[in-house]
Amino acid sequence: MVELDNDSALVVFSGGQDSATCLAWALCRYARVETMGFDYGQRHAVELTCRAEVLARFRALRPDWDKRLGQDTLMSLNVFQQLGETALTHDVSIAMTKSGLPSTFVPGRNLVFLTLAAAQAYRRGIRRLVTGVCETDFSGYPDCRDDTMKALQVALNLGMEARFDLRTPLMWLTKAQTWELAHGLGGAELVALILEHTHTCYTGERGLRHPWGYGCGACPACELRAAGYAEYAGKL
Ligand code: ZN
Repeated sequence: MVELDNDSALVVFSGGQDSATCLAWALCRYARVETMGFDYGQRHAVELTCRAEVLARFRALRPDWDKRLGQDTLMSLNVFQQLGETALTHDVSIAMTKSGLPSTFVPGRNLVFLTLAAAQAYRRGIRRLVTGVCETDFSGYPDCRDDTMKALQVALNLGMEARFDLRTPLMWLTKAQTWELAHGLGGAELVALILEHTHTCYTGERGLRHPWGYGCGACPACELRAAGYAEYAGKL
């Protein structure tokens, strides 16, 4: 069986609010933290620009995080564009489809991301795989469910003869509680960093600055982020 370091984590990091919070969570826990992101032909590359900026700012925010933060890997994955049209990879409107899932659903995306993350962790000797999936403010994505993640952990461990620990710190949190978690991990400075530098909007809008950050303000991702921040800020 492959030898894995208990005190290390690989965070699936997109540059959005959720994965940035997960990154802070991992940096507060593990001595060695690496990050991995995917260029899967997103319609808007703005997320990928944000992730480099967020990583640099995490390093600047706390010297202990700077020491713990290891290599970042950006993997190119254009297969999803070849598989078919979704609102995240093509110019398709964001709407419910006949399957009952929104057109932003990219079938298999999280399963593929985590399988590749596990392959990377295997090579890097990393025990913990950290992802920001969440079942509470559920967009209806079946690959974000807790049971999907638990089943995937079993499949990865069997298929790679390994003992990975798949961690999902946001699984049962509301979006407001995700802001609270960020505050608890890194204080007001971390909340300000996430507000200013992470990207969530499906349309790639970076021109409009709202109290909750940048975005179009109308897509489902913006609506969730705005409502969560309003609830969190109301409690401050
Ligand atoms: Zn938006």
